[in-house]
Amino acid sequence: MIHIRNKEEIEIIRNNALMVTATLTEVAKFLKPGITTKSIDEMAETFIRDNGGVPTFKGYGPRNNPFPASLCISVNEAIVHGFPSDYVLKDGDIISVDCGFYRDGYHGDHAYTFAIGSVNQETLDLMRVTKEALMLGIEQARHGNRVGDIAYAIEEHTAIKHGYGVVRELVGHGVGKDLHEDPQVPNYGRRGSGKRLKAGMVLAIEPMINLGTREIATLDDGWTILTADGKNSVHYEHTTLVGKERGENLSDFALIEDAERNNSELNTGHLKKVIVS
Ligand code: MG
Ligand code: MG
Repeated sequence: MIHIRNKEEIEIIRNNALMVTATLTEVAKFLKPGITTKSIDEMAETFIRDNGGVPTFKGYGPRNNPFPASLCISVNEAIVHGFPSDYVLKDGDIISVDCGFYRDGYHGDHAYTFAIGSVNQETLDLMRVTKEALMLGIEQARHGNRVGDIAYAIEEHTAIKHGYGVVRELVGHGVGKDLHEDPQVPNYGRRGSGKRLKAGMVLAIEPMINLGTREIATLDDGWTILTADGKNSVHYEHTTLVGKERGENLSDFALIEDAERNNSELNTGHLKKVIVS
């Protein structure tokens, strides 16, 4: 069942999506080479709880193997669902940080890929194009369109135009009282296909785009998804409200981008190229 959210529900989801933005903004201030990914997660969990939220991801999933942390932190060839760990960030890494914030009965869910120091040009291009593709997908999130219009806009800009690998096994989704609700929102597909979009639906739109093959592998931890060829992968996600004219981001990249810009340890060349105005 696909929910249409009323004004009050939308405002709660907006607040929670913006709390995810605030958490990712704290991450952007905190990042530098030499820190462990576990330290990022600990900082974020404290921030979420201090703000009256519950980290959605901690304990999520099957009872015999729940996700162990507040953030998914996926480094380089890790696509999504990476565990925070003792891994020490180094110059040239990229990390995709995914965060959920639960409060007042609803979830916010969004994600951002950060460059640590000097990242190679082909990866910077992948980051820029993936961010652009997310925005193109969101433009299609309007009343009367179909899920396939979002999916095609993302695939067209990434796989068709740039030859990147679009991950198919993992998809975007409705978000609200549950983290993952209907409909599924793939990052590839045919225009005009799939479920009809209506104003008031809330979707997590989240392209996961690989530099090389779209094929994936799963680590023994049962969660971490990697590229099969070991090349880098990028993940950006917004909590998005389906609108009458176009999709509206409930989460906000601008605050994260400002914090990146002010953090001299992050690559400023990357920012000039990646920010989509
Ligand atoms: Mg997410
Ligand atoms: Mg999501």
